[in-house]
Amino acid sequence: MTINDNQLITEDKTVFVASLATESNTFAPIYTDLNSFKESMYAPPGEHPDTPTLCSAPIVVARRRFQEKPWRLVEGTAAWAEPGGIVQRQTYELLRDEILDQLQEALPVEGVILGLHGAMVAEGYDDCEGDLIVRAREMVGPDVTIAIEMDPHSHMTKAISENSNIVIAFKEFPHRDFVERAEEVVEFAIQHMEKKIDPIVSVFDCRMIDVLPTSVEPMKGFVEKIRMLEQRPGILSISVIHGFMAGDVPDMGTKIVVVTDGDKQQGEQLAEELGRELFALCQSKDLGYVSTQKGISEAGQSKASPVVVADVWDNPGGGVAGDSTLLLQELIDQSLFDSAVGTIWDPMAVRLCIAAGEGARFNLRFGAKTGIKSGDPIDDLVTVSKIVLNAQQSFGQSVVPMGDSVVIRMSCGIEVILNSTRSQSFSPDLFSNMGINPLSKKVLVVKSTNHFYDSFSRISDHIIYVDAGGPYPSNPATNSYQKLKRPIWPIVDHPYI
Ligand SMILES: [Zn+2]
Repeated sequence: MTINDNQLITEDKTVFVASLATESNTFAPIYTDLNSFKESMYAPPGEHPDTPTLCSAPIVVARRRFQEKPWRLVEGTAAWAEPGGIVQRQTYELLRDEILDQLQEALPVEGVILGLHGAMVAEGYDDCEGDLIVRAREMVGPDVTIAIEMDPHSHMTKAISENSNIVIAFKEFPHRDFVERAEEVVEFAIQHMEKKIDPIVSVFDCRMIDVLPTSVEPMKGFVEKIRMLEQRPGILSISVIHGFMAGDVPDMGTKIVVVTDGDKQQGEQLAEELGRELFALCQSKDLGYVSTQKGISEAGQSKASPVVVADVWDNPGGGVAGDSTLLLQELIDQSLFDSAVGTIWDPMAVRLCIAAGEGARFNLRFGAKTGIKSGDPIDDLVTVSKIVLNAQQSFGQSVVPMGDSVVIRMSCGIEVILNSTRSQSFSPDLFSNMGINPLSKKVLVVKSTNHFYDSFSRISDHIIYVDAGGPYPSNPATNSYQKLKRPIWPIVDHPYI
């Protein structure tokens, strides 16, 4: 064999990368269809932008890393839908088969790298990611690397963990580390393909479900601890799957995932140790959420400006509509008129405002159209102060579409951004891109559980988390789960007995 032959063989190595992701709130009345993906992100092979999105970062990272390698990278489709209700069966099967056909075309491959979310549920499929991975595994055989990146708000199933060589979830919530984790996924995939490591995935079921922001204790310290533990010899990666309480599936709940280099026993022991520690930590945790009335009152009395008030349970990122008017109504009731609300989802009202035009003043009914726990629609004589077609905001390095959006100035002076593509509030530029200077307002109301925190804490000294009571199924103890049968806390007090 000549040197040239060697190079030829090396260059024949092929790696496949694709992304398919959304988060399915099985309690939400908003089906996710192909349009939902096309509105958020649908990129055919090679058309993914150079900027990463939350779940497609492995594509961007792989594109860069494999330029350094004499291997061929085949890009498949990347699709992401803003979290919503369950995915229409035909839509899931269409996107899944599109990616699997692309993989088939690329065979033989050395590795498959997937940017997933991990909480996608479709009609007839409780575990879409497991289904996709099992089918990919059947196609590539047992020896090919499958490496995946996941969101921690996901469901870790055996189908996923037993058919993947590398499983890594974002560590931070807010998810500011999705690119950093994608770098690890691609790096470990390369090391596995080069036979430098022998990754083994171990999972421990913590038998609990909770909201686990890592910007505050106890999770802040817990994440610092797992970063330290990753420095131990033999440990490649540790992830906390927080779980997603709005997904009624058998595997819903918090889990620890440890990837070791060839040491199954070490992985299982460490996963259990960390899982039990996390369970104990969460028994004494208080997120400090306050009622709507108290939250707005606290904002009014605050010396800070702006004060950021988060409507944590009307977060489109959790699959709900994002059209609740409860906090807006409270702002009106407490006469906090120097306020801006970003955003309320109401495509019909946006259309009426665009038809009326900038500067138009007319009677508009907006908000609260999709659920009984989202308050009442608001009727007011409003002025359309700004129209932005295809508006967007940033989330770290990624660009998030808000669809055609408008700013309305209410008769009391409160400014409200109405958007037509559901999107949680990530960054203050959602206001500035719509012509509202966020620093000029006393109160900014955002719809987000914690992703807003990083960027808004840079412009505000006072952040208030409000539990307005709906529409998200935020109390696992009373949510009407049908498919979840395992005893987990807080549905039972002592799940380990
Ligand atoms: Zn998440």
